[in-house]
Amino acid sequence: MAAPHRGSDVFETRLLIDGQWQAGVRGERIPVLNPFDGSQLCEIEAATEEDVDLAVAAAERAAPAWAARAAHERGLLLLRLADRIEQEREALARLEALDTGHPIRDCLNLDVPRTVLCFRYFGGMADKLEGSVVPVDAGFLNYVDREPIGVVGTIVPWNFPLMFTSWKLGPALAAGNTVVMKPSEITPLSTLRLGQLMQEVGFPPGVINIVPGYGHSVGQRIAEHPGIGKVAFTGSTATGRKIVEASKGNLKKVQLELGGKGPNIVFADANLAAAVGGAAFAIFHNQGQACIAGSRLILHEDIADAFLEKFLALARSIVLGDPLDPATEMGPLTSRLHQERVLSFVEIAKAEGGQVLTGGKRPAGDHLAKGCFLEPTVVLAKPSDRVAQEEVFGPFVTVLKFRTDEEALEIANGTDYGLGAGLWTQDITRAHRLAKRLHAGMVWINCYKRVHPASPFGGVGQSGYGREMGFEAMREYTVPKSVWVNVEAVIPPFYKR
Ligand code: NAD
Repeated sequence: MAAPHRGSDVFETRLLIDGQWQAGVRGERIPVLNPFDGSQLCEIEAATEEDVDLAVAAAERAAPAWAARAAHERGLLLLRLADRIEQEREALARLEALDTGHPIRDCLNLDVPRTVLCFRYFGGMADKLEGSVVPVDAGFLNYVDREPIGVVGTIVPWNFPLMFTSWKLGPALAAGNTVVMKPSEITPLSTLRLGQLMQEVGFPPGVINIVPGYGHSVGQRIAEHPGIGKVAFTGSTATGRKIVEASKGNLKKVQLELGGKGPNIVFADANLAAAVGGAAFAIFHNQGQACIAGSRLILHEDIADAFLEKFLALARSIVLGDPLDPATEMGPLTSRLHQERVLSFVEIAKAEGGQVLTGGKRPAGDHLAKGCFLEPTVVLAKPSDRVAQEEVFGPFVTVLKFRTDEEALEIANGTDYGLGAGLWTQDITRAHRLAKRLHAGMVWINCYKRVHPASPFGGVGQSGYGREMGFEAMREYTVPKSVWVNVEAVIPPFYKR
């Protein structure tokens, strides 16, 4: 497959509503670009507000039967989907690499297998979600059932389109909800292919609907739609606020996975080789386009020089190239606009007195000239600088130094975000003491960016609220219903005659 073809048997580029692939009501299209060379991969049909209304109506119609279906049957469809994705591993990985610029080796070894793992986890989870019996007053039975919410709207960003779609679809569908989903207008292709695979394995019409389109129209309509009971959003903090605002009309439940400015603290007693490798993975994997990227490298003064010598050498050795080349370790950023935004932070850093230790420019070499590349960039700065406070979302790490544990904590907790945080030390007592005091939804000790479908994922502060993954996710996609039974015909004392 050189590039996906519009409307072909192989690859769908239209909307999926009520089990039918169709053009948008207004007949608009969105070009999808390859960030490696700027070429157009294809055009997709663009949904608009009217299409969201049609998709929600379809999801509402499908909801009662889907919720009533035996939980293990819903789970089985998710398990079949996981198998089908596994069969399609190479084609899906290639599609994701073309659309996002992720190196193919990462798509093959991470994006696709992690998507499979997520659908398997929630496929198995579907019939494990139990209610409870609550010890209340004598003579009464109180039980709590967990019911699906109804129609869930999902909105995801462009940085891990396939994986993030699975994080939301898995628990939403396992719990018995129907879904209207909007991929990013920049990277819609793997989601559309997923829709085809879901049809193939037998998901009924209307259970999953896909409306690719722009955020200000399609995303906004999903957030405000009165027929949607919950919106699950991953994206920037600024858009998260707009979604909360738009959701007020019907007081829908909102789950927000937003930005981050991950602190990654290296103490003087750390295993340096492990910390150097871990810190490089934390920021350079996926071109640093990860909400949980370790974008603030907080180094103890005693080891800072030794650490940086190794870290800078590693950064300079990273192989940039065509995402489809198995030797490529870092691909382009996902869009031209984003590349320009990330580059602007190099100037912002310099203007505030920051020192660019390596990188900071587009890479040399004709073969990379057309792509949205940026050299792995390391900048020494102060904790108050904008590059130490704002999310850059690129292969750009800000180095800060500290002397005491308290100082390290103060720097780490000194932003509005609170998503992931890492610390590297051999001192087990310090590790747990500081893990408790880090303002973060996830803490990694002597590792970074570990994620698994069984472990809750999410943030605090401006990084959002709600949790993906694990039992937490099943709770997020259901509502508890408390049922009281008067088992001993107790007559209340108040109006007893
Ligand atoms: P974004 O907020 O611009 O867009 C995310 C999605 O929201 C897209 O599908 C977009 O079309 C849609 N959208 C835009 N405006 C909207 C509106 N007014 N109403 C409804 N939807 C709208 O984010 P992005 O640039 O695509 O992604 C990068 C951001 O996502 C970064 O801030 C990153 O940290 C964050 N992110 C967070 C997590 C997490 O789990 N916490 C994971 C990945 C990315």
